[in-house]
Amino acid sequence: MGEPYKRVLLKLSGEVFGGGRVGVDPDVVSSIAKQIKAIAADRGVQVAIVVGGGNFFRGAELQQRGMERDRADYMGMLGTVMNCLALQDFCEKEGVQTRVQTAITMGQVAEPYIPRRAERHLEKGRVVIFGAGSGMPYFSTDTVAAQRALEIGAEVLLMGKQGVDGVYDADPRTHPEAKKFDELSYDEFLARDLKVADATAISMARDYKLPMIFFGLDEPGSIEAVVAGEKIGTTVHA
Ligand code: UDP
Repeated sequence: MGEPYKRVLLKLSGEVFGGGRVGVDPDVVSSIAKQIKAIAADRGVQVAIVVGGGNFFRGAELQQRGMERDRADYMGMLGTVMNCLALQDFCEKEGVQTRVQTAITMGQVAEPYIPRRAERHLEKGRVVIFGAGSGMPYFSTDTVAAQRALEIGAEVLLMGKQGVDGVYDADPRTHPEAKKFDELSYDEFLARDLKVADATAISMARDYKLPMIFFGLDEPGSIEAVVAGEKIGTTVHA
């Protein structure tokens, strides 16, 4: 049996990198890198990754504490790049070739975002890690993940989460009685105003019929399971 997916876009929230704290936890990043090796090098799936930055800064939170929103958002985007470099480092220790491409140019540490070149890297078996969000304030890395998935022709958007294993009708961390969805339509996701991803990302996925799977990263092996087509987490589709 062949692989269910040839090319995937994996979104990793910043929270994952910090293991719930501020900064980067090398043990966590190392374990994510081992899972990426399992899908990219061992299974031969083409893997692009969009990295969040909430473990460093979120523009909305800095704004509440008195900063200008756009400058705070740039800090958020720069935070994602540190996560990218940590992930690149541990992937390469696993023998996985990677390229980081950033939406804000910083030639000493990464390539600029060039979609055609990113596709070429993927074809050669390199993992491409996208940093610095969209390069534009007022966006989120969830929305960037949907946009990048569409632009590079990924078949599915895999939303890896820390501390939650799918989409629930309320936050299971604060509502223990919350119910998990196995499947959900884009419209119902939007109508319920669920906070696990931002509405711009969901509506972009809806408009271009990009399937999304929300799943937890706390279980070891969950990235491989979702890429193998196992029914874990929550699938969001038309
Ligand atoms: N950000 C932005 N534009 C983008 C992507 C991200 O301004 O295109 C900023 C925004 O302030 C956001 C922060 O970067 O709060 C970190 O990204 P995000 O919150 O999406 O990360 P995650 O929640 O996935 O850790």
